[in-house]
Amino acid sequence: MKTNHKILFIVALMLIGLAIATITNVALNFREYGYSNAIEKSKMTAEIVRDGLTAHMVNGVMDKRQFFLSNIEQLQDVQSLWIVRSENVIAQHGMGIANERPRDAIDAKVLKEGISAQKITEDSQKAILRVTIPYVASANDSPNCLSCHNAKEGEVLGAISMEFNINDVRQTGAMTIAKIFGINLLFLIVALWVTNHYFKPYIHLLENLQQGIKRARTGDFSYRFQTTLKDAGSEVAEQMNTLFERMEKTFVGIKQDLSTFMSRSNISCSDPLDTTGIIIKELSDVYKFKKTIELDNSKEAIYDRFIYVLKERFNFTHFALYEVEKRSKERKLIYITDHKSFCLPTVDQDANECRAYRTNSDIYSTDFPNVCQSCSAVEEEYTCIPFNINDDLALILSYSSQDTAEIEALNHALPSIKNYFEAAKAVIESRTLMDKLRDSSLRDGATHLYNRRFLEEFIDKTAQQALRSHINYSILMIDIDYFKMVNDTYGHDSGDIVIKTLAEILQQSVRKADLPIRYGGEEFLVLLHHTAPEGALQVAEKIRTTFAAKKYQFGNDTIEKTLSIGISHFPGDADSIWKVIKFADLALYEAKHTGRNRVVEFEPRLFTGGDAF
Ligand code: GH3
Ligand code: MG
Ligand code: MG
Repeated sequence: MKTNHKILFIVALMLIGLAIATITNVALNFREYGYSNAIEKSKMTAEIVRDGLTAHMVNGVMDKRQFFLSNIEQLQDVQSLWIVRSENVIAQHGMGIANERPRDAIDAKVLKEGISAQKITEDSQKAILRVTIPYVASANDSPNCLSCHNAKEGEVLGAISMEFNINDVRQTGAMTIAKIFGINLLFLIVALWVTNHYFKPYIHLLENLQQGIKRARTGDFSYRFQTTLKDAGSEVAEQMNTLFERMEKTFVGIKQDLSTFMSRSNISCSDPLDTTGIIIKELSDVYKFKKTIELDNSKEAIYDRFIYVLKERFNFTHFALYEVEKRSKERKLIYITDHKSFCLPTVDQDANECRAYRTNSDIYSTDFPNVCQSCSAVEEEYTCIPFNINDDLALILSYSSQDTAEIEALNHALPSIKNYFEAAKAVIESRTLMDKLRDSSLRDGATHLYNRRFLEEFIDKTAQQALRSHINYSILMIDIDYFKMVNDTYGHDSGDIVIKTLAEILQQSVRKADLPIRYGGEEFLVLLHHTAPEGALQVAEKIRTTFAAKKYQFGNDTIEKTLSIGISHFPGDADSIWKVIKFADLALYEAKHTGRNRVVEFEPRLFTGGDAF
């Protein structure tokens, strides 16, 4: 039921209740009034009759009383009237005229008890009040009853019975009730109209507010409130409209801003305000994450935080994070849980083997079983996600679970995870750039080999680690023979060509774990990782012969160059890496002095400078 109908119904109910109460009250009062009026009338009539009969008696015309009684019977509203004699009076004065014997039980009872009786007989047609009043003997009456009647004080001498027509009273009552009913009905109509007229705009406004707020709960603030009210009602409508307009603008703005920030979100909530709250919370978390990683000074530290978020915020239990260097197509492991990788080893050598990297798309085993041919997972679901940092770098996130529901829950969280990644992307890129810049300061621009500065920064740490892990290094110190002559004869550029050629030979002649360094002008140092002395000698020989075999065309001349190499071993020759480097230098010096184009291994006899390290 609509609110205004409800109010009208309640008002109508109250007025009808009031009308019923009034009408009932009036009806009862009318009945009571008619009844007591007739009783009074009957008492008066009884008095008149008694006085009349006494007069008849005193005047000795008692036998003429019928005329008197008939006249009394003619009085208004008196339907019938009769006199009854008591047995005592009959015994003293005879039967009297006809019908002066008790006619019914009421007459008999009143004669017997001396108490008046009343009875109302009603039907739809008429209403009759029957009253019977006793005549009681009393010496105090005037004339004295006891002077004529042979009776005792208080003895019942007779009674008078009358029947009064109280129809008029009833009709008047009914008319009054009808009038009251009419007035009430009129009042009810007026009251309902006034109520409806006065309350309707308020109710209308209330219904509007209800509807508007209902829509606002779904994020729709386009509702506008209208009212015909002039006072506080119009103010309420106006203020609500202003509020809704502002909310609409703000909310639409927030929605657009959020969709810009959170291009993808896994949040699905029926209440847009709640959704906004959740998104803002997520945004704030992502923002805090971004602010934190901005202060991290290495890419590795950022990766660590990303791993922390995956573990702590998204409850990842089995996952791996890889870094792909796009140029070399090498995939480097950053983190893995329990060393448990599903990827075949070939993927690390060639990132194109990684389906997520190659296709640059999310890979879900739940979409298609065994979706990735490079995956060896058995009875486990997995998901692999590529994150592109820039043209040089990409990350691969891979996670797995035996429980399909768990992996689906993790997949569901992916949009949020991607938001974290998006936040981290620029910072990772800038750290990569910084790493590159730093790397360039540690490399030689002409040969792209690490320079002496790099060696100085890096070698102490490497040496300590080598000592701890019982790893040895062989050091080759290389110098081109009579190099100055190239510069002097063919110019500096020709000299550069020879230097670059040697750099290339060094890179091609050593393994990945080995490290060729441009140590000085045309001097190179090679750090051979965990190599036996014979192996080091072989590498040195290979470098020497390969370089010697090279021919250079400078102008009309075709020339060949040679180089000399000194070898030492760490920690075989000394515990100090710098001492071992010096020993390699001494061996090189020995090679130069003993004819050049030679490889000489360090021998303690070559070191005559004492323990200067
Ligand atoms: P030795 O056999 O005794 O080593 O004789 P050498 O002529 O090679 O003598 P040394 O090693 O002392 O010569 C070094 C020369 O290398 C001196 C310098 O001008 C030249 N040089 C150093 N760096 C560069 C470079 O980057 N480019 C060129 N073209 N020359 C360089
Ligand atoms: Mg030199
Ligand atoms: Mg030289």
